[in-house]
Amino acid sequence: MRILIVEDEPDLLASLAQALREEGYAVDTANNGDDGLFNAEGTDYDAIVLDIMLPGLDGWEILKRLRKTKKTPVLMLTARDQTRERVKGLDSGADDYVIKPFDLEEVFARLRAIIRRSANKSTNLIEIGPVKVDTAARKIFLKDKPVEITAREYSLVEFLALHRGEVVTRTQLYDHLFDENESSLSNLLDVHVSNVRKKLGAEFIATRRGHGYCIE
Ligand code: CA
Repeated sequence: MRILIVEDEPDLLASLAQALREEGYAVDTANNGDDGLFNAEGTDYDAIVLDIMLPGLDGWEILKRLRKTKKTPVLMLTARDQTRERVKGLDSGADDYVIKPFDLEEVFARLRAIIRRSANKSTNLIEIGPVKVDTAARKIFLKDKPVEITAREYSLVEFLALHRGEVVTRTQLYDHLFDENESSLSNLLDVHVSNVRKKLGAEFIATRRGHGYCIE
């Protein structure tokens, strides 16, 4: 899962980016509105964390312009005294909001929820044969036993599971699992796929030659 954070407070931006990377997300950042919109329009993010008061375009303007072309789930960061603004946000196409100062766990939970909703999954649990993917706890179970899996491997399985039955191209996987600083490491994906197969069974992820990967 790849997230864009648009936030102009350097400390908040850095700590949020680090926390999300530790959760296994690929994270791109923008510290002003113009770069934020440029990134948001140019990349298929799984979700965007969007501050409202920004240098350049503000969060509302970004949201308004983005919604002309993309449905990317957006989590707005709002200040406590912006109650009316929050209503405006939901009306203008934001998917959810958190109030600053926020608890990181709340940001994680709301992000998972808007990503799940955008994939039309109403439940936390995806069952694929003997494998269960718990998207709320970000854990994987094989025959009801928890599997030791890295955050990035989890993200790979979750992305394929949310697109179950579809062939997901390598390019899509690169776009969703790695951020702009990592995407040149071209064999990383194969390593993760190979590790997941060792843990969940060789047949769990099918290779579609010349096309990509698929979970049936
Ligand atoms: Ca701000």
